[in-house]
Amino acid sequence: MKKLSLFFLLTVFSLSLFACNHELVNLDSVKQQLIQYHDSGRYQRDITTTIDQAMAYLKSRLAHDHLIKPAIVLDIDETSLSNYTDMAAANFGGTFDQIQAAEMQGHDPVIAPTLKLYQYAKAHGVAVFFITGRFENERHLTAENLRKAGYANWDALYLKPENYRGKSAAIYKTAIRKEITNKGYDIILNIGDQQSDLSGGYADKTFKLPNPYYFIG
Ligand SMILES: [Mg+2]
Repeated sequence: MKKLSLFFLLTVFSLSLFACNHELVNLDSVKQQLIQYHDSGRYQRDITTTIDQAMAYLKSRLAHDHLIKPAIVLDIDETSLSNYTDMAAANFGGTFDQIQAAEMQGHDPVIAPTLKLYQYAKAHGVAVFFITGRFENERHLTAENLRKAGYANWDALYLKPENYRGKSAAIYKTAIRKEITNKGYDIILNIGDQQSDLSGGYADKTFKLPNPYYFIG
């Protein structure tokens, strides 16, 4: 019995030590880090670095390969347009409805390096396709927001159809890229801020932008 009690005490002591050494990260301190990442300019620099790499790859492909129907694919949120102001105002929380209501205002600012890449692509005969996880009921305001941000004459804007509601973004986005490829386009590159924007193939190369603010599977 004594042995058992000793064993019990040792176990409790060990667990307490484990708890002390592995205290969970404080939510408010994480939020402060998220703000600091943005306000310090590091977020912008990290985006610029990745888009510069995408630009170099695009230029190289256009210079060396004879592509009949070259194309690129861009995600929208946190790739072409930024929701940071709304996310920070909501203290990095909010329900799906609240997030959609913020999007519905159609005031998301441009992510400038992506616009530069977009304009280069369009000026060099490369088709640009937007594929977003936003739903069809946001088509009009999304197109307006893109135009307001400086994007013009995109080749198509794909929004998530209702029959894909509840399914992973990767399944829907891959199906659209397959559809584009079947139309004869060579998707040179695909840029997004989530792995689910990029997995599934149908692009020669993918570029992942940073997004420590939310996850879409
Ligand atoms: Mg996104």
